[in-house]
Amino acid sequence: MSEKKLAGKVALVTGASRGIGAAIALRLAADGAKVVVNYARSEKEANAVVAQILAAGGAAVAAKADMGTPAEIEPLVASAVKAFGKLDVFVNNAAIMQRLFLEQVTAETIDAHFNVNVRGYLLGAKFASAAMTGGGSIINVASAISRMAYPGAVVYSATKGAVDVMTRVLAAELGPKGIRVNVLAPGSTRTDMNSEKSGKTKDEERQEIAMTALRRMGEPDDIAAAASFLASDDARWVTGAWLDCSGGIRL
Ligand code: NAP
Repeated sequence: MSEKKLAGKVALVTGASRGIGAAIALRLAADGAKVVVNYARSEKEANAVVAQILAAGGAAVAAKADMGTPAEIEPLVASAVKAFGKLDVFVNNAAIMQRLFLEQVTAETIDAHFNVNVRGYLLGAKFASAAMTGGGSIINVASAISRMAYPGAVVYSATKGAVDVMTRVLAAELGPKGIRVNVLAPGSTRTDMNSEKSGKTKDEERQEIAMTALRRMGEPDDIAAAASFLASDDARWVTGAWLDCSGGIRL
């Protein structure tokens, strides 16, 4: 039987207690990676992801750290190396999204988004790349929204646009060290962030489905499959890329 494609690799996924991050952690583990499941608040859910991986014969640990708090990021990366001896794959996924029209935007809401979605990603990449002594793959989960004009999402879209630019610069800077850096850009995906829980109406969901070429909502597993590709050696010649994973939204 052939070896699993991520066998021998160690991965750290931020915001992996729920939604897309949880699906990525499960998929990387199913493909053979040892996985660190980061969470900020949802300890029970993070432990459930770890339990699912262990039950399937994989290796995983949960690690609490708020990606919006700089002092917690380096220890998170160090805990991954301590748990599994090295780091090969780092998935910047933890992010927040509030629907805010311009008149609702404040300095505080701007800072809250940028602290997690941009500063957290950049410091995460900094400490993760320093730990990737044998090369590696950094996957920045951004969003198809940075290439759309979505009213009520100016702050969130700005953070994702920043991630797009950061990714290309870091790909150029880290390439000589054998570290690939890519954007994985989901479209509308069924998670807590994008549901009735977050104020999304059924009508808006129908409109978004109609905008996709493939005529459905994305599921977290759809995004996880693309993450597994970017993490693997199948993507060894792919860096600085912006991988649309939206079912063809607004083509
Ligand atoms: P979600 O359902 O809201 O889940 C967010 C995850 O991030 C949770 O596990 C949460 O953990 C964690 N998190 C939030 N703030 C954190 C922090 N400060 N530190 C550490 N972890 C934190 O979101 P999602 O829909 O899965 O989104 C995942 C990624 O995909 C994000 O980057 C998002 O921007 C992107 N995306 C999503 C969609 C979509 O339609 N869903 C579309 C495009 C892009 P705790 O509960 O433990 O805090």
